[in-house]
Amino acid sequence: MLVVDGVTQIYRGGVTALNNVSIEIKPGLFGLLGPNGAGKSTLMRTIATLQTPSKGAIRFGGIDVIKDPERLRQVLGYLPQDFGVYPRVSAYAMLDHMAVLKGIANARERRQTVETLLRQTNLWNVRNKSVAGFSGGMRQRYGIAQALIGKPQLLIVDEPTAGLDPEERNRFLNLLADVSQTVVVILSTHIVDDVAQLCSDMAIISKGKIARQGIPSALTAELKGKVWRSFIDKSELDAAKSNHRVILSRLVGGRTLIHVLADTNPGPDFEPVTPDLEDVYFAALTSTQAN
Ligand code: ADP
Repeated sequence: MLVVDGVTQIYRGGVTALNNVSIEIKPGLFGLLGPNGAGKSTLMRTIATLQTPSKGAIRFGGIDVIKDPERLRQVLGYLPQDFGVYPRVSAYAMLDHMAVLKGIANARERRQTVETLLRQTNLWNVRNKSVAGFSGGMRQRYGIAQALIGKPQLLIVDEPTAGLDPEERNRFLNLLADVSQTVVVILSTHIVDDVAQLCSDMAIISKGKIARQGIPSALTAELKGKVWRSFIDKSELDAAKSNHRVILSRLVGGRTLIHVLADTNPGPDFEPVTPDLEDVYFAALTSTQAN
């Protein structure tokens, strides 16, 4: 289990990117959901020992991550937002090279590792093609293969689905879910669906604070009977926002659809809706905005 305990990160210049963040992450696929600038990358980089927090503690199993970053690195796989690849080098050759750098000196062991990872990430058929020429989805799957060299116990993947088309995203998320059967996987994303589909546990981060944490279906169930929808004219949106707690507004077929959070029916033009994770997300974000 990974325990993040009261972690605060204040950057030079005074930006508080993480404000007393505490979360416990169990084995499985954990989704860290939040908008741009919420602090996701900062938290991912801090857990990955790439930066030291201003305050707080992080433990992974028996490892004190801040005091002993070297030990964490031995069991860590990390896929940053952008990773460089060499042009004209095949996926096989590059993964083999990375395995050498990770210390797998024995050629037979290395071949076995590289082959297993290429098959697991569904890249076996394109193993002789250059990674630089891969599609976005293939490239991200290659990134996972690379991060899994050396059998890490903790895999951190920072915003991996940005820019992937729906099919590639699904394939990629399924790969992460598969990996998470044996490894603690933390996925950061700003896409609600990434978390809704496969994550067994999640947290919503907003302005450097954890706004909600729990099992996606349980968080959604908490809103049951409290979300109401109405179609209004765009010109009525400001009035609706001052009269109700509008958590979501969206243009649908020329009308504005709003979702309102309320314990009882807010008015004759409203009807109940079955809440989903998007309602949970926007309810969490609007409550932190009000603070
Ligand atoms: P996210 O990954 O959720 O988009 P980040 O962790 O990248 O969020 O950023 C959180 C906040 O910290 C933002 O306000 C961002 O501008 C700021 N920030 C990130 N990195 C640095 C840095 N190296 N120096 C100063 N401010 C930073």
